[in-house]
Amino acid sequence: MTTQYPENENPSEPWLTYKRALVVMAHPDDAEFGCGGTLAKLVNNGMELGYVVCTNGNKGSNDLTMTSDRLAVIREDEQRGACSVIGAKDVTFLGYGDGELEASVELIGKIVREIRKFKPDIVICQDPWRGRHNHRDHRNAGQATFDAVYPYARDHLHFPEQLEEGLETHKVLEIYATMTENPDVIVDISDCIHDKINALKEHKSQIGDPDALEQRILSNTSELAESHGFEYAEGFKRHTFSFGRAPTPKTQA
Ligand SMILES: [Zn+2]
Repeated sequence: MTTQYPENENPSEPWLTYKRALVVMAHPDDAEFGCGGTLAKLVNNGMELGYVVCTNGNKGSNDLTMTSDRLAVIREDEQRGACSVIGAKDVTFLGYGDGELEASVELIGKIVREIRKFKPDIVICQDPWRGRHNHRDHRNAGQATFDAVYPYARDHLHFPEQLEEGLETHKVLEIYATMTENPDVIVDISDCIHDKINALKEHKSQIGDPDALEQRILSNTSELAESHGFEYAEGFKRHTFSFGRAPTPKTQA
């Protein structure tokens, strides 16, 4: 017998169907640059949001007096500040060095562990197949996350030690890929644009002049929004998995 469950009929408003989202990104600040408005909107609409950040971003500086060790600490701190602006429930740092990410079985296993712990309905990650050159860490984080969702998190013979620790297999229903070209889901972030900008302003080591950043974000997000009748928007490429499980029931009033 097949289980009937509500389809995500409004992909631009996933909170109408889903309860939990996990965002998996290569570097501190990628989530906010790629989709910070959408993340704030998911939380505002009652979804639980978790973060996984694969690298510590310890090469992202043009300050010649900066060291990698010092930068890693600064960037973790900045990411926690941004998560708090967005309203994320928790953040896990996998601790890889900036520029050193491989789409390896080891990385896949670490992402699978977070998926099995957090049990998201949707996962948001970087599009590993965008049509022009993509930062190597973005490509590898995206690829490992797609692989983690299917088949690794789903199948019990992958990483059985995690099941022995008490975790269970988990079926993610959809991936929303950000930092993509030709997006097929457009989310209206007009009411969350300042959450995105304020979260980005937490990444002080990365953004330079905060006013210039604000203008850049307003301009970029309005360009995509224009043809869809919104003021500000973010786009995603949506991948669905027909695993036949019901979304996590909404328990909040
Ligand atoms: Zn990045």
